[in-house]
Amino acid sequence: MKSSPHSSYLSDYIKPSQIIYDLKATDKVQALEELLDVLAKQKLIENKKLILTRIIDRERLESTAIGHNVALPHARVDTGGDIAIAVGKSKKGIDFDAVDDKEVHIIILVIWNPSLPGLFNHLFAGLAQFLIRDDFRLRLFGAKNKTELFNVLSEVELRLPQQDRIISRASLLKKLQTIEIKMKKSRGSQRKQLKEQAALIRQELDRDLVDRYERLMHRYGFAVAEVDEGVCQGCNINVATGMSSAIEGSNDIYICENCGKFLVALKKKKK
Ligand SMILES: [Zn+2]
Repeated sequence: MKSSPHSSYLSDYIKPSQIIYDLKATDKVQALEELLDVLAKQKLIENKKLILTRIIDRERLESTAIGHNVALPHARVDTGGDIAIAVGKSKKGIDFDAVDDKEVHIIILVIWNPSLPGLFNHLFAGLAQFLIRDDFRLRLFGAKNKTELFNVLSEVELRLPQQDRIISRASLLKKLQTIEIKMKKSRGSQRKQLKEQAALIRQELDRDLVDRYERLMHRYGFAVAEVDEGVCQGCNINVATGMSSAIEGSNDIYICENCGKFLVALKKKKK
């Protein structure tokens, strides 16, 4: 299976046999196992146990539930092929520790080959463009059988978005920074563990983003700054009002016009 970098469809990577219309699972791990079983049965993966461990490690870093009742669990593992995708729908909903606390009804599981670093970004961005659309999600959730579900999924065109802010990875960048700062002060097995977590995140982020992050880390010792009451905590200068309110509650990537650091909303403690 070859993936064209400019235009391909999700249906190039998925057959109806990779879809579970009604998941039996009642929790996250069961759901992941159920989906991996489908891929194993189709001979798209071999090392189910290893893959499950990787996916769970990744979920621990940050839930892959992107909100709106959708989750995109993933792992970068050599499966022999380029990519293996399974989709499951849950009527009851599954607790996936989503950012919006909503239960997940659609799970799109993606395993991709480490030799193709750009593939997942491409897929993630393409999928996100469809999944943020209310009308698309409604049809996805409303599909009455496996064929209908497959037909809706087949519409997803995996083209790269015009604006890279659609690939909302701000919280992942922040996490990378936290881990790498902690890593500098740690030793032994803790250091090794943090290094693995950092590698897991780096694999997923866009190359340009990581390059910019590296430059900022090298220059300032940190790359991601919080915005508190409209002020960039990286340079103490007000960010544009519109930008400030856009950052609040979003996971999009914004850049401080003054100091060039990545901006994220200040995490307020729950009262
Ligand atoms: Zn700044």
